[in-house]
Formats: sequence, structure tokens, C-alpha cells
Amino acid sequence: MKWSFQIARIFGIPIRIHATFFLLLLFVAIVHANEGGPAIARGLVFILAIFGCVLLHELSHSLVARRYGIKVRDITLLPIGGVASMERMPEEPRQEFLVSIVGIVVNLVIAAAIYLWIRGTGSVEPLRQLSVTGGSLLERIMMVNVFLAAFNLLPAFPMDGGRVLRSLLAQRMGYVRATQIAARIGQGMALLFGLVGLLGNPFLIFIALFVYIGAEQEAAMITMRSAFHNVPVRDVMITTFRTLDVHDPVSSALQHLLEGYQQDFPVLDRDQLVGVLTRAELLDAISRGNERAPVGPLLQRDVVPLSPDDQVDAALERLRSQNRTALPVVENGRLVGLLTLENVGEMLMVYNARMKGKPR
Ligand code: ZN
Repeated sequence: MKWSFQIARIFGIPIRIHATFFLLLLFVAIVHANEGGPAIARGLVFILAIFGCVLLHELSHSLVARRYGIKVRDITLLPIGGVASMERMPEEPRQEFLVSIVGIVVNLVIAAAIYLWIRGTGSVEPLRQLSVTGGSLLERIMMVNVFLAAFNLLPAFPMDGGRVLRSLLAQRMGYVRATQIAARIGQGMALLFGLVGLLGNPFLIFIALFVYIGAEQEAAMITMRSAFHNVPVRDVMITTFRTLDVHDPVSSALQHLLEGYQQDFPVLDRDQLVGVLTRAELLDAISRGNERAPVGPLLQRDVVPLSPDDQVDAALERLRSQNRTALPVVENGRLVGLLTLENVGEMLMVYNARMKGKPR
């Protein structure tokens, strides 16, 4: 994540803090500024304690995931919470259940421990005297942990509760179907939040949006992954498409663009692929009035072509990371196909239609 700094390494996992976190500390110091040094110190201790709890929560996810052989790249602490970036989630339902639920358990254990401590020392203050800035520090930390556990238990992606729900559903049905149902439930909840938020709580509307988009992304990603699991590029690439020669003028590329659906054109020099001319580059050349110039100097020459035996999911990852809409496919030095986002999208629609047709 940009603007984050590594502050420690725990169990070999880099712990990073986002720069905005320091803004939060500054904000707390300013809020308490005219109450004197001790008040500022208490405010800062409170924030640091919460972050400690969030860190323990994320560490618990990471350590359980690592037990199942999943690499954890790092943990980043943000003012809104923590993110443990794992290379993947376990697809085995029981493992996903344990990786997800452990974070909630950690917060509940912290809350219970504090409760027992203040009961034991007889320093309980009535709950209604508590607020975010007032009341005993320990009790406030306890309440924050109860809140964190409850919030994460919401059965909606990307919260832990969404994954817990999916892992429970996945024991009875396929992983893809379980993800789609869990995502629907999460979106239903997001709509409910949004409605309640409209009655006067903007924070809820924010959470609703966050949850709605998270559910959508999770469902789309899982559907895509299962649709293209172990599928070679050969089966998805298009083989009927136009190519250009490096000496062709921009105007003939424009003619191809307007004649058909193709937006990216592989460019050949004596039958050897030298690059891809994208629609954006073509339009850019036209806007500069270069319609009679050859396409050769315009095109992207740094394109690394795919092989027909590459896996589609890896190819999609390359398309996304390089911000392209198409990649040429080359076999034995010859251009044999074109993998386009549009065609992949169509394949996905066919896959979804077939899934719906299947008896459950
Ligand atoms: Zn969590």
C-alpha cells in the first residue's frame, strides 16, 4: 500500500502503518489540547491500545492462514482498521472458517479478559458514563473490542463474517455458489444499512457502499476464477481478427476500427509481430491530424505476447496489471490469436448462463 511504513516485524510478518494514522494521532492530540498534558496522553494511549487490538486481530488471521501454507505478505494498519494481505484465502471450507473466525475470537477474548480484570479489582463504572472520550480507559478499550467483534461478525464481504458465512454454506454446496449466495446476503444487508443511514447516519451509508462493492467484487472474482480454472488461452482467444502492417497508414486502421468490433490491432513487420495498436493510440493520432502517417511509430512495442498454453487466469492478471484490453498470442514465432477482455467477458456470460441451467 502506498504511503505506509514498516514499523516492525512480528513472527516474520512485516507490520506497516499508513501515514494517515499519524494524522489520527495528531487529531486526537488537538482535540484534547486545552485539557492539558495528561488528557492528551490518555487520548493517545487509547488510540494506540485500539491499534494494538486491531494488530492482534490481523495477526491471528495471518498465523492461522500460515498454518495452512498461505503466505502473508504484510499487515497494514489504517485509521479505519487493519488489512492482512494474504496471497489467497483457503478454499477448504473448514480452513476458511478458522482463518476468519479467529479474529473475532481474539477481540472477544480481549474484552472478556478486561471485564474479568475490572470485576476482580472492583473498578467497574456504569456503562452509561462511557463515551469515546470519557470514562475509564480499560472499559472503553473493552467496549471497542466488543464493537470490533460485532462489526466483523456482520455476514457480508469483506468482513470476516462474510467469509464465515461462505465457509458454512460451502460445506453444503459448491464454493462458487456459496460465494454468490453469501454476496447476495451481504448486499441485502448493505441496502438495509443504506436505508437506515439515509435516516440520518452518513457513516452507515459509507459502510453500506463499502460492503456492497466488496460483495460484488468477491463474487465476480470467485466466479471468474472458477470459470477459467485450468483453461488454456487457446480455448478463449479469438482467431478471426484484423492485423496491420507497420507501413499501413492510420486511416486504414481507422477503417478497420469502424468496420468491426475490434479495438486493438496486432501490428506485423514482414509477418513478425512487433506490437499492438490500441484504440486510444489510434484516436490520439487522429486528434493530432496524422491520418496519413504510418502506424509503425505509434504502437506499443513493449508487449510481451501470450502463449496458447498459458492459463487464462494468469493472462487476465497480466492484462489487468499492464492496463491493457488485449494481448496477442504467439506460437512458434507466429501470431495465432488475440486474447481480449471483451471476449473473456462473453465467455463469462456463457459460463454463468450454463451454471443457471444446471440442476442444483
Ligand atoms: Zn478480521
